[in-house]
Amino acid sequence: MIIVMKSHAAPKEIEDVVKRVEELGYKIHLSRGEARTIIGVIGADEHLIANSTFEVMDGVERTMRVMQPYKMASRDFSASDTVIEVGGVPIGCKRIVVMAGPCSVESREMILETAHLVKAAGATVLRGGAFKPRSSPYSFQGLGEEGLKYLAEAREQTGLPIITEVMSTDDVELVGEYTDIFQVGARNMQNYSLLKVLGKQRKPVFLKRGMSGTIQELLMSAEYILAGGNMQVMLCERGIRTYETATRNTFDINAIPVLKEQSHLPVVADPSHGTGMWQYVAPVAKAAVAAGADALMIEVHPNPARAWSDGAQSLTPERFAKLMADLRLIAAAVGREI
Ligand code: PEP
Ligand code: MN
Repeated sequence: MIIVMKSHAAPKEIEDVVKRVEELGYKIHLSRGEARTIIGVIGADEHLIANSTFEVMDGVERTMRVMQPYKMASRDFSASDTVIEVGGVPIGCKRIVVMAGPCSVESREMILETAHLVKAAGATVLRGGAFKPRSSPYSFQGLGEEGLKYLAEAREQTGLPIITEVMSTDDVELVGEYTDIFQVGARNMQNYSLLKVLGKQRKPVFLKRGMSGTIQELLMSAEYILAGGNMQVMLCERGIRTYETATRNTFDINAIPVLKEQSHLPVVADPSHGTGMWQYVAPVAKAAVAAGADALMIEVHPNPARAWSDGAQSLTPERFAKLMADLRLIAAAVGREI
């Protein structure tokens, strides 16, 4: 349930409503917009809603039930866009954040080299997988903790915050010792045990859409993390599985404006996994920026032909630098910056 305060309600009026909600045993999420404050009542049941007397309290304009199965992820819940701050980089603002790096951390030298190259081209977050969700058990599974150490060294050298995937509840603690952002991969979007554990963490979570997940299911998965108390969640469109076989996945461009409308959480586009082929990454990245994405995740490899995973969709550092230059023009055309 949501309590919408009158525009310019007095601080004392807001305080009284918050107190009343807390007396009833509910937690609140306060969202102070430019004009008005919205008080989200977490976990409010039918009984509270039916018997609510909030509307007669001073300063209250109206109360609303949130009809969607996701509440805290809903746009209704927060008047303003959520901004997530990672190592000095705000995600969800005018400036579009580019997270770039290899699919997998392959060696110390390789991640350090890539980190410097993507930073020089303008990326502000370094990506790299140390625990890899591979379709075949015989494919390279990632360097594990060794990879995390190399990522941390790359962060030290470049100042770029890092994002890396956590695949299992068993690894949350270990990955959390190194990473700035936890990535939840497409295959784990509905791993509710993992989402619940991440809801208890104090670091941002980057949640990828499952390959056959609907937008609503993505938002419900985000809700698991939010409901656990972690409000720092980003939503990522990374392509879905359709009948089309010309590309690895079908990037759902619609998801970007739909998510921006339905939720206050930052929206990220991953055109690398969304297309699976390097030559389509740049056009789809540009389309995603034009469609309103707050951030991009792009795979870059110093030598894609020799990549241990996802070489076909990885940009060379030169192609990445060219893309960054092109993206600046697109961003400016839609009132954003890169
Ligand atoms: C990745 O980011 O390398 C990855 C495995 O992505 P996804 O979960 O979207 O397949
Ligand atoms: Mn990959």
